[in-house]
Amino acid sequence: DGRLLAPEAGARDGADYALRPTSLEEFVGQHKVRENLAVFIQAARERAESMDHTLFYGPPGLGKTTLAQIVSRELGVGFRATSGPVVAKAGDLAAILTNLQPRDVLFIDEIHRLNPVVEEILYPAMEDFQLDLIIGEGPAARSVRIDLPPFTLIGATTRSGLISTPLRDRFGIPLRLQFYSPEELVGIVQRGAQLLGIEMTEDGAMEIAKRSRGTPRVAGRLLRRVRDFATVAGRAVVDAVAADGALQRLDVDKAGLDNMDRRYLSCIADNYGGGPVGVETLAAALSEQRDTIEDVIEPYLIQQGFLMRSPRGRMLTAQAYNHLGLKAPKVVSQ
Ligand code: ADP
Repeated sequence: DGRLLAPEAGARDGADYALRPTSLEEFVGQHKVRENLAVFIQAARERAESMDHTLFYGPPGLGKTTLAQIVSRELGVGFRATSGPVVAKAGDLAAILTNLQPRDVLFIDEIHRLNPVVEEILYPAMEDFQLDLIIGEGPAARSVRIDLPPFTLIGATTRSGLISTPLRDRFGIPLRLQFYSPEELVGIVQRGAQLLGIEMTEDGAMEIAKRSRGTPRVAGRLLRRVRDFATVAGRAVVDAVAADGALQRLDVDKAGLDNMDRRYLSCIADNYGGGPVGVETLAAALSEQRDTIEDVIEPYLIQQGFLMRSPRGRMLTAQAYNHLGLKAPKVVSQ
């Protein structure tokens, strides 16, 4: 879809590569995650072993893929990447695993979407670096065991609760990525501006940072669009006024919410009296996928205090009513 603030990777994010940090040092934010990774990387290097299997989880666009690439680079090993839905058959995974070099990083994005049959193959591969394959069919079928080189599996998922317990238990290093603070995003925007050759003031960067949904991928995308407006307007320097003007034209409001966010909040306010309302109902009312609502729209609205999740469903906060310019009904809790 064409949603500007969508934190999922889109076709037009190809140039993202230009902005990708390539070392832990360059990677802004996620302090704890970085510190821990630095230790695990160094330990694996000193012992000349593969690093433990690692699971990154958190909303899209926070740097899971980027970190996986950085880990392989800092380990000094090869990097292979695939994703859950792409590995359709056991044979697909077997082909990938048997082609790994010792200590390589295998990155599986959206690992929660692996076919259960494929997932079963992964268990002994992760645990014992062994592959159990069934060759042939019917009475002639027999199972063969193949030794694999030791490798590091790095899985990424939007929510750790989406993956099965046996799979989750096989990751020695589970790491949760958090939304970035505006200050961290300022650093990311400034770095991006420099790489793209844009002259930008500190408050210009802050204007973009505050409106990026805590997400570096969104920050990068907004930066490019703000640059377009600046180019057409013939501005040499992007300051807060220029950034704000561009972001308003793009319908990104002061709180960093876009049309989709506002449509979601208004739907609960107008049609369900502020909630509680179930996610399935909202998905139907908005014609959106439930996954999109849960992974992309809601986490940021919850983190920012616009929305609450209760056992009975989603509820708007008084802050959300305020933002929509509506009067909150009396029963809404804070
Ligand atoms: P995910 O895999 O979590 O969806 P990515 O690793 O693809 O996210 O990151 C999305 C984009 O955001 C990348 O292209 C990268 O340019 C940028 N990015 C992510 N994290 C950072 C960071 N900490 N510092 C700078 N840029 C980042």
